[in-house]
Amino acid sequence: MLKTGLQFIIFSTFSFIIFACNGCDRKAWNAWQDIQQKAAVPADRDPTESAAEPASDTTTEHAQAASTSSSQTDPKEQIMTDKVVKSDTQWRKELTPEQYQILRRRGTERAYTGKYWDFKGVGLYKCAGCGAELFLSDTKFDSHCGWPSFFETITENSITYKRDTSHGMIRTEVVCTRCGGHLGHVFNDGPPPTGLRYCINSPALEFVPADKQNQAQTQAKETP
Ligand code: FE
Repeated sequence: MLKTGLQFIIFSTFSFIIFACNGCDRKAWNAWQDIQQKAAVPADRDPTESAAEPASDTTTEHAQAASTSSSQTDPKEQIMTDKVVKSDTQWRKELTPEQYQILRRRGTERAYTGKYWDFKGVGLYKCAGCGAELFLSDTKFDSHCGWPSFFETITENSITYKRDTSHGMIRTEVVCTRCGGHLGHVFNDGPPPTGLRYCINSPALEFVPADKQNQAQTQAKETP
């Protein structure tokens, strides 16, 4: 009787583990398929094409996405959908040469050389181009690839996906939704729960420690 009970418990435990693993795999597979579908949709404009930049060198425009209405959108959401559009000359002026090369020219830093690949600070990572919040430090993991890697973005719409066929490869490029800056690529060999690996260039990111972030939030609340 005792033996039968033990057999039942062992069988149930294995069944649960197998079921849970299948669930994780399916969730990760669905997330990857969703990203591939998003990447297949042509973006409004290629941020790396300077011809598409506005002619004015002095105007910084926060143009709201056509699909959103300010009266229908809460302020937090509005920040994510406000586009930052600047001329190529402006970007050159405001970014460091390294940031410009990565964000506006789709460059790639050399592996194991960036300031964040082995960085373990607690806080959040913003876009170095426009300040949009992109990743939380608790979604960062050591992928051993030499670039900072994350398994999840802060919000679903903080990053835009684009199909990238450059260098003889088919990859999925990730760009900042707000300013169109090139961040890196996403792959489907990441850890649970998403199975994704956002492989990001350090110069495209700006880290904000959690204590500074809390200070800023408190000040914002106190300001009428
Ligand atoms: Fe940005």
